[in-house]
Amino acid sequence: MDYNVVLLKRGRMNTIYFDNAATTMPIASAEEIMARHIRNEWNNPSALYRSAVDAETRMKKEHDMIKSAVRAEKVIITSCGTESNNMVIFSGTKRTGKPMHFISSAYEHACVYECMRELENRGHSVSYINPREDGKIHPEDVAAEVRENTALVSIMHVQNETGAINDIDAIAKAVKRVNRNTLFHSDGVQGFIKVPFDMRRSSVDYYTASAHKVHGLKGTGGVFCSEKAPIRALIYGGGQENGLRSGTENTLGIAVFAAAAEEYLKNREAYAEQIRAVREKMIEGILSIPDTKIISPEDGALHILSVSFIGVRSEVLLHALNARGVEISIGSACSSKKRKNRIHDALGLSPEVSEGTCRISFSHNNTVEEAEAVIAILKEEVEKLRRFRRL
Ligand code: PLP
Repeated sequence: MDYNVVLLKRGRMNTIYFDNAATTMPIASAEEIMARHIRNEWNNPSALYRSAVDAETRMKKEHDMIKSAVRAEKVIITSCGTESNNMVIFSGTKRTGKPMHFISSAYEHACVYECMRELENRGHSVSYINPREDGKIHPEDVAAEVRENTALVSIMHVQNETGAINDIDAIAKAVKRVNRNTLFHSDGVQGFIKVPFDMRRSSVDYYTASAHKVHGLKGTGGVFCSEKAPIRALIYGGGQENGLRSGTENTLGIAVFAAAAEEYLKNREAYAEQIRAVREKMIEGILSIPDTKIISPEDGALHILSVSFIGVRSEVLLHALNARGVEISIGSACSSKKRKNRIHDALGLSPEVSEGTCRISFSHNNTVEEAEAVIAILKEEVEKLRRFRRL
């Protein structure tokens, strides 16, 4: 197959992009929204004249659109998923002035895990729950750790390296059965819209998201809260976002976030179908290569596929693929420069499986032809790297 044809179809001359868990290509209408903002819609929504009031009205509608994606009662727009998670962990819950207890998982994204480490530095205690063999965090394991002074439990919705989906509502309910005052947060950055979630029908108090994972722009994220969940500002100033997140609003980012969320919601089934077809083709091709192991659970989120090419160093494979125009990842973009993989340790991967593990992640923009092209390249490169290794 002439894979340059595939590359041309994507509109990017030299890459096939399979790193959609790191970030996604913005929706096509982002360009038009951006042009509108630069020309006409650049007013500060806090100002008092007509054009600013119009900007505020538009922005309010966009907030409503964004929060409707998970049927949340409230949304606070932030700058990213990282800020959203920090906000919940450091500014959610009621502070008592005494050391408190927190629960999280051992395989959270760094922006939750490092917050937990910081809480420990500040004198609080944290219990870290390991996933079971199915790659998921189980409600009983979390409930068993809940104490009288457990302030907050934070367990991610979709694991960013494997795609494992945690039943966050079941975990939240199990936690609250032990201590009804304990609050529950889920990092929804990889799950937002892709895995349907109805906050109103759940016991989850806080859910967080990031626009650039759903074809929005970088620089916008959201904290979704139930009306009764306590939340204070992390950033103080002019009182934007109902006093909860000061700083002139990123009106362009918010407009694209709302448009991207709306488009994804509308097309969710069609996108899932496209992603499933590409994923299945990729799995079939990868399994035809000897000594490969699929790490992702079968019932995981469709857009993330973790796979190990045993006997190959994933980092070397990543560069070999990159030299041939293919972009994949060996872990989350934020942790890929660290040598030891905390997530693989939590999953109990053996050193040889861990060493060969790559993450291939999809969006509806990917095609079956792209998967076929990547499989052909993978076959050659894996073979070559294994041969060199044996020499
Ligand atoms: N949480 C998870 C599960 C993620 O995968 C990521 C990014 O990869 C983040 C949080 C951080 O999001 P952001 O890049 O918007 O700060």
